[in-house]
Amino acid sequence: MLTDTHAHLYYPEILDILDEILNRAKDTGIERIIVPAVDLASSLKVLELSEKYEMIYAALGVHPGDVSKSKPDDIDKIEKLLTHEKVVAVGETGLDYYWDTSFVKEQKEFFSLQIEMAISHNLPVVIHTRDSTSDAISIVESFSGKNLKGQFHCFTGNETELDKILNIENMFISYCGNITYKNFSNTEVILKTPPDRLLSETDSPFLPPVPYRGKKNEPSFMLKTLEKISEFTSTGIDDLKETVSLNAQELFFQKKF
Ligand SMILES: [Zn+2]
Repeated sequence: MLTDTHAHLYYPEILDILDEILNRAKDTGIERIIVPAVDLASSLKVLELSEKYEMIYAALGVHPGDVSKSKPDDIDKIEKLLTHEKVVAVGETGLDYYWDTSFVKEQKEFFSLQIEMAISHNLPVVIHTRDSTSDAISIVESFSGKNLKGQFHCFTGNETELDKILNIENMFISYCGNITYKNFSNTEVILKTPPDRLLSETDSPFLPPVPYRGKKNEPSFMLKTLEKISEFTSTGIDDLKETVSLNAQELFFQKKF
């Protein structure tokens, strides 16, 4: 089952046309979409969507960019929602030093708390990094031996960072539409990502792949990113689609679905 493992489908302008967006996704062969929340309010919204639409699954958590507006209490409230049958992950969480570094301490605290929560609920963790990959890896490494599993989504790290992640068991990598852009120069990292650690995602509505730049990204555009990976790695597109589908099944859906 082809899965978009990361699409933020709860923004008002998307909700207005969500039925169309989901139909277009189905037309391209996508059968499941994981919608990651960024705070308590969006966690509740994502759950609502997962109840309304069969193909939507939920990841609940607090994004590093939303830590400053969130309270540690929000994490407790989110934890109570994790037993919902459509919840398949904790996140997105992680570290983001690009927009604001004044809350790094809080970002790290929220990240660690959410990792602990993921471990105790036996759920994978969806990890966001921006200018912070190395710190995020250190935190993940500090949980080694504790059965943590997860996804470094929209990976933009270097080869050394990739190697470190690959050394951690049950950590997967996914790439976004920016790998189709002319200025993308990190091909080596994609070449070094083993197929059995690769997931598919869009990060909708952000980072639309070529030829959809300037539009709002949506799950149906995911194939363009997969085609680029297929081109870089000389893997047949059908093989690649099958591999990333199996990987998503293994990481997110094995236990419950
Ligand atoms: Zn995201």
